[in-house]
Amino acid sequence: MNVHDSEKMLGILHGQGYARAESPEGADLIIFNTCAIREKAEQKFYSQLGRTKMLKRRRNEVKIAVAGCVAQETKERLFGRAPYVDFIVGPQNIHLIAETIGGERRTALLDDNRELASTEVAARRGSEIKAWVSIMFGCNNFCSYCIVPLTRGREVSRPSSAIIAEIRSLSEKGYKEVTLLGQNVNSYCSDITFPQLLRRIDALGIERIRFVTSHPRDLSDELIRAVAELPHVCEHIHLPIQSGSREILSRMNRGYTYEEYMVKIEKIRSEVPHVSITADVIAGFPGETSRDHEETLRALRAIGYDGIFAFKYSPRKGTKAAEMDDRISDEEKSLRLGEILKLQEEITLRKNRALEGTVQEILVEGPSDTDGTLLMGRTRTNKIVTVAGDGYVQGSFVQVFIEQARHHSLSGKPLPC
Ligand code: SF4
Repeated sequence: MNVHDSEKMLGILHGQGYARAESPEGADLIIFNTCAIREKAEQKFYSQLGRTKMLKRRRNEVKIAVAGCVAQETKERLFGRAPYVDFIVGPQNIHLIAETIGGERRTALLDDNRELASTEVAARRGSEIKAWVSIMFGCNNFCSYCIVPLTRGREVSRPSSAIIAEIRSLSEKGYKEVTLLGQNVNSYCSDITFPQLLRRIDALGIERIRFVTSHPRDLSDELIRAVAELPHVCEHIHLPIQSGSREILSRMNRGYTYEEYMVKIEKIRSEVPHVSITADVIAGFPGETSRDHEETLRALRAIGYDGIFAFKYSPRKGTKAAEMDDRISDEEKSLRLGEILKLQEEITLRKNRALEGTVQEILVEGPSDTDGTLLMGRTRTNKIVTVAGDGYVQGSFVQVFIEQARHHSLSGKPLPC
């Protein structure tokens, strides 16, 4: 979401005559678009921000803006902590970035701004084949560990007509894939529901449609049916579980039990053949006993995700969980995280190996990060595949015979068209 917010700010500023600088040293304006989801991200930001202090000393005319969730969380206090910061722009106000940086220094724009959903912004995107498309902003869920409802505000959905117009225009420009973005896309609510929105987008004919993130409680049968039936909607669902323990899920205020979550998983698997399912997991939530942790490991074994994002619990000021008794040492959290990641690596490898000898369609994204002589693409199920690169252009669809599976990717041989 932050990456796309940056694309939007870049688009607005480009319209004002700005161009992307090669380095901070050569820039007239530096914007930090910050993430507050975990403490580590926030610390990283502060250490990078500190480096711009010298820059500002050398060239006082450089403008420094801080956008995103840390901006919203710290508010004007940030001016006290880093007096060389000129502008503070919360995530609900990024559409006003041009006015802000054109105005008086030491301005903070932090209102709960619901106009964001109805303001059209021409994003300057990082890719010419894949595009993020916001469908809603904010979140109403208040999971006890999460700062997002406090920084991005309450849920507000974009009008369906605006979303459809944006995707139609992307398709006309040659984009092959869109990812619909929202903190909880399943609760999208305008004149139509999220499954209805998917059906309308599918009818536009853009080749691939993805969406993130789904909240397990709101994932409806109607949505599963849409994923199963619609030819352009990819067979991949990211469904964060966070923990396998009933007690911990309740303390997290997630609104489902492990058993209820499993019912959804079974339903998805029975209706969407070859679907890949991924999730987020938190290790060491306050009060998590070794038994709760074992239940998470048991859940991972039982579900067999294609991949997970797992992190150590990190207290966020202002959230309910930050007030809970957090007696698990950092060492223990690391140990639990290590066990989770190790188990999942084995599961992912096993799942990837099952694809050896099959043919998968990939959308070619460009040269591989690890070996520039190879091309990299993704399957509909969002698995990374590398192939020998002769004759395939970025944005083309290629049928690949999968020869080898690794922990995080597959490799294979393109089949003749
Ligand atoms: S659903 Fe929960 S974890 Fe996700 S953004 Fe909302 S509050 Fe945070």
